[in-house]
Amino acid sequence: VLSVRDLSVEFPAGDGAIRAVDGVSFDLAAGGALGVVGESGSGKSTTALALLGLHRRSEARVGGRILLGGPGGVEVNALGDEEVRRLRGRRIAMVFQDPMTALDPYYRIGDQIAEVYRAHSGADRRAAWARAVEVLDRVGIPDAARRARARPHEFSGGMRQRALIAMALACEPEILVADEPTSALDVTVQAQILDLLAELRADTGMALLLVTHDLGVVSRSADEVLVMHRGRAVEHGPVREVLRAPEQPYTRALLDAVP
Ligand code: ATP
Ligand code: MG
Repeated sequence: VLSVRDLSVEFPAGDGAIRAVDGVSFDLAAGGALGVVGESGSGKSTTALALLGLHRRSEARVGGRILLGGPGGVEVNALGDEEVRRLRGRRIAMVFQDPMTALDPYYRIGDQIAEVYRAHSGADRRAAWARAVEVLDRVGIPDAARRARARPHEFSGGMRQRALIAMALACEPEILVADEPTSALDVTVQAQILDLLAELRADTGMALLLVTHDLGVVSRSADEVLVMHRGRAVEHGPVREVLRAPEQPYTRALLDAVP
């Protein structure tokens, strides 16, 4: 459902520029799960944001091609702002490490999800609220009809992350991009969220691009892994193979660093 070809992202810095992403290519199959790993600053988040066209309002220069729908699909970089806005959430959605970057503290969670759903579907308020309750229930929020009226700070961190996943799911996207979705959570909740993502993937056929610095998360939740180092994709393949017999020195170092 996604083909990325020779993606590069440059940020202006001083007289020159930082190449945060440098010629990265990969494919994500429908229903597949790709883990993107690498040390801090290797360009993982910059890559993830580029997929949703989220650098266009910054000074970043994005090169290469992002084809939504695979080869022959819609080229994200070639679209206008309005068209990209219509894709986000509906065809490709994102969840972040800190759910509060995406949730407004002053509004009821149900309203925030309903709003996203309405913007894309044109459903009326009632139907959109019903959809919000439905997806909150789907991600395991107990008593969802009542809890939808809560504001984000009334939820635990794990529940907030579930709510954010619910928001991402509301329009049944083909691809979910998750940037360190479990890093801020304790290990038990971490496992629950990863299980939830796996379950949703099996149910909906949604593809998952999972950014993480944790190889344990990759082996639990991804079929393929892409290793990034200084903006480049240095290794890419099935998780089992890469973790069993890493070819790149950097990947070996990454594996050695795992306790
Ligand atoms: P982490 O594991 O710490 O989240 P990461 O792999 O996600 O790291 P990125 O956030 O993609 O790394 O950053 C890659 C590089 O790009 C870093 O050198 C970072 O400083 C730089 N960078 C990222 N965003 C910007 C920006 N908006 N402006 C300037 N430089 C940026
Ligand atoms: Mg990051």
